Amino acid sequence: MKEVLVLGGGISGLATAWNLHKAGIPFKLIEKQVSMGGVISSKIIDDTIIDFGPNSLRDRDGSIRKLAKEVGLKDEIIDISEAFKTRFIIRNRELQALKPSLSTLLTTDVISGKGKLRALAEPFIPKGIAEDESVGSFLERRIGKEAVEYLVDPVFSGIYAGDIYKISKKEILPTLAEKEQKFGSIVMGVLRSKKEKSDIKPMVLTFKKGIQQLTEAIVGKISDRVLNEEVISIRALEQGFEVETSNGIIQAERVISCLPAHSLSVVLDGFDTALSNTLESIDYVPMLSTQVIFNKKDVELPQSGFGFLIPRNENIRLLGAIWKSSIFPELSSDDKLHFTLMTGGAHDRDIINENIQQVEEEVLAEFSELMNITPKPAWMESKLWHQAIPQFHVGYQSVRKVLKRMQAENPGFYIGGNYRWGVSVPDCVGGAEVLVHSIKKEIAYF
Ligand SMILES: Cc1cc2nc3c(=O)[nH]c(=O)nc-3n(C[C@H](O)[C@H](O)[C@H](O)COP(=O)(O)OP(=O)(O)OC[C@H]3O[C@@H](n4cnc5c(N)ncnc54)[C@H](O)[C@@H]3O)c2cc1C
Repeated sequence: MKEVLVLGGGISGLATAWNLHKAGIPFKLIEKQVSMGGVISSKIIDDTIIDFGPNSLRDRDGSIRKLAKEVGLKDEIIDISEAFKTRFIIRNRELQALKPSLSTLLTTDVISGKGKLRALAEPFIPKGIAEDESVGSFLERRIGKEAVEYLVDPVFSGIYAGDIYKISKKEILPTLAEKEQKFGSIVMGVLRSKKEKSDIKPMVLTFKKGIQQLTEAIVGKISDRVLNEEVISIRALEQGFEVETSNGIIQAERVISCLPAHSLSVVLDGFDTALSNTLESIDYVPMLSTQVIFNKKDVELPQSGFGFLIPRNENIRLLGAIWKSSIFPELSSDDKLHFTLMTGGAHDRDIINENIQQVEEEVLAEFSELMNITPKPAWMESKLWHQAIPQFHVGYQSVRKVLKRMQAENPGFYIGGNYRWGVSVPDCVGGAEVLVHSIKKEIAYF
């Protein structure tokens, strides 16, 4: 009864387990798959490290570096190369370079002169009044339709694979939304905060054996606490909870769910129907991650850079490509070039019903044309994630209210995971740390 039960062994569950371990709180972690780490999945092909899930970690607050040090990976971190500074957007089937700065707006060929003038009028546009609205309508109002189509949409496709006309500004762009309200303009707000803190550097990193090295290192430290079982259902006891797994019944005073929303929905059916329905309603989009390796001699990279993103109105199926061997050259064999191609998302949901080999060929052809590559790749493999990324749609605040209500009615039950803490791996690691900190205080109080 005294042990905390952590459900799910993706990065959210593993980071939660690691923080419980550090706090000296006894726990068990239940994961249904033999291979831990959830969507984090790395592989080595001919001296090249492949990641089918996350490809890089943006460690804004240093939490990944801290965790890596704690689990013995301090010397295994690889920082991103300077190549990350140049990103490309496709316009008229050509790569257009884009540097990460506001002045880029003046020089880029990604948007037309008219589009630039409209975007530059942003400080003169009156502020909006909607409490929440979609990222698409918010930014279209501020910087105009063309800038949204060619700059915002591809970037959001790259991160959330989502529909910007459904994703909530309050959830995803709270700081920009605040700047609009505070300064009357997001451009003025960004310029002001740049003056306040000018030394922010991107802290994007990975590990020498891929991102799975991080989850494996955590598992290595807590393996005696891991149960390889499937969670079937949960029921409340007078004090605590009873968790039914594929191997029997476990009772615990505290349960932390780090399962995906759709899995927790099934597990809670019969315990809390309203919550179960809310969890089921959270939209997840599919993603196909295609890993391609070319012989270096066969390909002439136009320039070095992070990769490219493709606006939807270019009518190309591929969402974008990461030039993995440019941003992390240490991960690729010297005579090879490695790319990650992303397909799927909110606008391509039927991908889950298609023949993946055919889709793979289709997006490889698109990629090869955009990159001017004629030879076939030396190696290619894809992984389809059916429910890859949760979407924070307008109205998501009401989902948060239901999660909070359930926790308040069931003391000792906590809900974590990427649909609660944010989709990035650093968001999940940060969320786990905050949660365990509050549980530690609770336990000390009782
Ligand atoms: C293709 C792709 C690319 C991405 N790229 C990036 C990136 O570059 N950078 C970044 O920061 N983030 C990226 N993300 C997002 C990030 O990887 C995820 O949001 C994060 O890893 C999710 O972790 P999680 O632990 O919350 O969920 P998951 O990884 O989904 O883990 C949930 C775990 O619960 C287990 N489980 C489910 N049901 C049960 C059950 N009934 N009983 C027991 N166990 C169960 C599952 O097997 C799984 O191991 C990407 C995601 C995808 C899919």
